[in-house]
Amino acid sequence: MATNQTFTMIKPDAVEGGHTGAIIKLIEEAGFRIVAIKKTQLTPERAGQFYAVHRERPFYNNLRTYMSSGTIVPMILEKENAVADFRKLIGATNPEQAEEGTIRKLYAKSIEANAIHGSDSDENAAIEGSFFFAATEQF
Ligand code: ADP
Ligand code: MG
Repeated sequence: MATNQTFTMIKPDAVEGGHTGAIIKLIEEAGFRIVAIKKTQLTPERAGQFYAVHRERPFYNNLRTYMSSGTIVPMILEKENAVADFRKLIGATNPEQAEEGTIRKLYAKSIEANAIHGSDSDENAAIEGSFFFAATEQF
């Protein structure tokens, strides 16, 4: 099941900027089905937990602050080859390096406030999806 799913969240800068609908439209037009969706806000502690893999990186503390600074829209998405295809749709971490037409090229403000998250493996997609959604919230 996990091989056809990925996890994403629209980040605080893009929600605040009013881009939620436009981003969801791009995601659906690219062939992804929304399995789970909600609007929520992370505490700095939960943001730190979500990004624990980056805890030794110099940007970790700023990332915790930024990711808890406003509301986010987490989603579980389904499509064949979901993880890789979704990473392609969002583009490079740094929007200056993101390809034309990608979500980060269109909506990211900076390498930190880069509009959207995408899981980097099937294993992490499953872990990250269950970080936000109970089985009863997935359809
Ligand atoms: P991605 O989200 O593309 O998988 P990473 O996993 O490397 O990127 O980093 C997680 C998040 O941390 C990024 O999406 C971005 O918000 C932030 N980030 C990554 N690199 C930097 C950096 N050099 N400076 C500031 N923030 C960064
Ligand atoms: Mg990553």
